Amino acid sequence: MGKIMGSWSPAFWYVLVLSFALVVGPGAQGWSKEGHIMTCRIAQELLGSEAAEVVRNLLPHYVNGDLSALCIWPDQVRHWYKYRWTSPLHFIDTPDNDCTFDYERDCHDPHGMEDMCVAGAIQNFTSQLINYREGSADRRYNMTEALLFLSHFMGDIHQPMHVGFTSDEGGNTINLRWFRRKSNLHHVWDRDIITTTMSDYYEKDMEVLLENIETNYTDGIWSSDVTSWEHCDDILSCVTKWALESINIACKWGYKGVEPGTTLSDDYFDSRMPIVMKRIAQGGVRLAMILNRVFGDSKEGFATPT
Ligand SMILES: [Zn+2]
Repeated sequence: MGKIMGSWSPAFWYVLVLSFALVVGPGAQGWSKEGHIMTCRIAQELLGSEAAEVVRNLLPHYVNGDLSALCIWPDQVRHWYKYRWTSPLHFIDTPDNDCTFDYERDCHDPHGMEDMCVAGAIQNFTSQLINYREGSADRRYNMTEALLFLSHFMGDIHQPMHVGFTSDEGGNTINLRWFRRKSNLHHVWDRDIITTTMSDYYEKDMEVLLENIETNYTDGIWSSDVTSWEHCDDILSCVTKWALESINIACKWGYKGVEPGTTLSDDYFDSRMPIVMKRIAQGGVRLAMILNRVFGDSKEGFATPT
């Protein structure tokens, strides 16, 4: 580990610190800052001692062991020249109105390059971390970056509109109003539902909202579902299942009844808010499941496709 850490150039650290300082612009895609922070906070709480230690060692010192502080980093660098290749990794475009996800058919970038979608990215960064653990990591790969990408993309694949229709770019081109403010359907799911929840019910305090979500899966309404959320035999079938869940929710709850120019308000908010909170919880629980299997002392690994 010391070897890998030591091999990074000072320029890398500079870039990482600089990128952390940048503010994500309004055009950014992915769960909002809050969505990603909560996903990663949930995951980190659920890590066993071994995985917790590896994660802590991979993080740069200035975040004091807090994974969530860097979970939005992939959104901040996606337009930089060096990381432009990661831009298609945040989402999946599926056929319009089809409400299905087929890995072979849909997981590619706009030029048709295979595996270049959020489901492929999760597989790729998971296997990089497995190789690191097994001591067979390719020195070209940066394990801190792999951890940050994996943590971020586990959030994105659970944001239902990140597995949306191709022609409206996952709702990005469906302009509408969220209560009185201008927004678009994608952004409603990325951020508006979360911020409205915080201001209406939690005095804008994300910590209290997070505690509420955690109570729901530890001994509340989702506590008996967690085992099935975590179930994962091999990573390909799991990312496929999670993407399918998202496109199904996108169809049933995201796009349903929404026309461009419409105003979404209480009815939409009240019925969708619990879904968003559950997706954040699932993303966090499943990220912890992956990290515990990859870094933990549990011998339960993944059946990896050959
Ligand atoms: Zn993203």
